[in-house]
Amino acid sequence: MTSHIMPTYQRLPVTFVRGEGAWLWNDHNDRYLDALSGIAVCNLGHAHPAVHQAICQQSAKLLHTSNLYGVALQEQLANQLTEKSGMDNVFFSNSGAEANEAAIKIARKYGHERRIDKPTIIVMEKSFHGRTLATLSATGNSKVQYGFEPLVEGFVRVPYNDIPAIHQAVAKHKNIVAVLVEPIQGEGGVNIPAPDYLNQIRALCDEHGLLMMLDEIQTGIGRTGKFLCFQHNDIIPDVCTLAKALGNGVPIGACLARGKAAHILAAGNHGSTFGGNPLACSAALAVLATLDEENLIEQACEKGEQIAKGLTRTLKTNPHVMEIRYKGMMLGVELDQPCAELVSLALKKHLLINVTNEKTIRLLPPLVINDKQIQTLINTLATLIQEFTHQSRTPPTTTS
Ligand SMILES: *Cc1c(COP(=O)(O)O)cnc(C)c1O
Repeated sequence: MTSHIMPTYQRLPVTFVRGEGAWLWNDHNDRYLDALSGIAVCNLGHAHPAVHQAICQQSAKLLHTSNLYGVALQEQLANQLTEKSGMDNVFFSNSGAEANEAAIKIARKYGHERRIDKPTIIVMEKSFHGRTLATLSATGNSKVQYGFEPLVEGFVRVPYNDIPAIHQAVAKHKNIVAVLVEPIQGEGGVNIPAPDYLNQIRALCDEHGLLMMLDEIQTGIGRTGKFLCFQHNDIIPDVCTLAKALGNGVPIGACLARGKAAHILAAGNHGSTFGGNPLACSAALAVLATLDEENLIEQACEKGEQIAKGLTRTLKTNPHVMEIRYKGMMLGVELDQPCAELVSLALKKHLLINVTNEKTIRLLPPLVINDKQIQTLINTLATLIQEFTHQSRTPPTTTS
């Protein structure tokens, strides 16, 4: 049967109908282990009772009224997010790209208020910020941009994890107003920068009066073993964007701002019909409560380390495994060769993984994954990598 869905995704040949924790079942009732969490969305796993209960109860009361009126749950959620992050206020959106759009608008208006004509934002090579026109223009991947020119202006690009390059860009372009960066690049290949990278960016932004804007859409909500990844660094940005795991599957995004960035957008400057509606906020409040109640953020550190160590044990002698990188439950296994095929091969073994930047296997397991599931993940993936790289190994030269 021909599909009537626009072919924007190359989909794998499986359809899931229900889940529980780190397990998913397809329409033939076969069970799969989920080590991707719907791309860092279902941090509490599938069908978490707290989220289920919150959205059921809320849907019986009120789904939506618009932002023309007060929304009590939005106030509550903003209180908790600012308290947990140290930021001052929040704009709620429905997705990550929209949260970044809000950040970009803040940066531009911040520039105009300082009489900077063409406010320009420093962005990174291999970054990913979304698929809207402004966010794909900010994204450092020509495949994302190809076919959609003209791009939105006002971005200059520098290599990731390169502080001198940011200094040079600031010296060269007189109209820089902000730096937009992921604390760890997700789509770009699980790229973890130097431990003091964010501290250096913070100092540089302070020195030049720039806004430090962190895209924590993938790294946030406990994923890396802190509520937000920047909390590993003892710094605080001026703007921080969230989405993905904030609603555990219920669409919600957030742009958090602080200090001079918090009052740039005024009435009439920005908006969203759905943004922060009671249903989405009820889910997010349940997520925040559950992270604390089940101590999931601390567990992200321990479980991530357990997975990384387990994989290292098996793979350390495999010359095709270049590096195993991780922070909490954000893991990348880089091979010396393209390995996109591994996604289908893993699926055949009933394991959901992802490959990004061609050579890096990306794991984003739900934070609720249990010990037994972790062992299954390690064993299945390690075997798969051994088989895959063994096949590709050039035969030893025979001497006569
Ligand atoms: C997923 C992602 C986005 C885009 O979020 P959408 O909800 O798909 O718009 C932006 N930035 C980062 C770092 C992401 O991982």
